[in-house]
Amino acid sequence: MHCVICKTEVISNKSVLCYSCWGDLSFIDQNMIQHSNVAAIIDYNSIARKLIHMFKYKSPWLLCDLFINWISLTYAEIIKNSDVIIPVPMHKYKLMIRSYNQVAILGQKLAKQHKKQCLLNILIKIKNTKSQSLLDENLRSLNVIDAFSLRNEKKLENKNILLLDDVITTGSTVAECIKTIKSNSNPQSIKVLCVAMTKN
Ligand SMILES: [Zn+2]
Repeated sequence: MHCVICKTEVISNKSVLCYSCWGDLSFIDQNMIQHSNVAAIIDYNSIARKLIHMFKYKSPWLLCDLFINWISLTYAEIIKNSDVIIPVPMHKYKLMIRSYNQVAILGQKLAKQHKKQCLLNILIKIKNTKSQSLLDENLRSLNVIDAFSLRNEKKLENKNILLLDDVITTGSTVAECIKTIKSNSNPQSIKVLCVAMTKN
């Protein structure tokens, strides 16, 4: 087995990260986000960027299990209290090019493991937006305005929703998702969970 980030040989065949890369990850203190609606696992530092890049473009299936372990250990309560998991959707053109939505892969596996429902065709991305990573903070929220639409909104009535994403930086995307859900449906609650988040 080789480290997914630096390709160093890893002794344990269970680990996808070497000691050095593992050590460079910065796990977010849960107490810091206890009163926030956004839960994250790691700080989006330089090593996390490489990890998320691998997840997005190269090995979503390989890293899925690692992320699910982290999420399940850290946020079991949040998952338990949710009724449905909604992964942040990808526009169909982007989906066609990449052939998968890595967040949907994560959501489906997470839901299966915790016997929850993962809803993929409720929140739809209708605008093929520019990649948020190419834009500065001010343009990011403009970029995602009216980018999402809700279908079968009755399915979300009185539900505790867990909105899932891989990385959150400015939070514009999830904010727009929440706005779309709330203005078209009447959920009980919406919590946001992501793997990596930029520290404020
Ligand atoms: Zn490494």
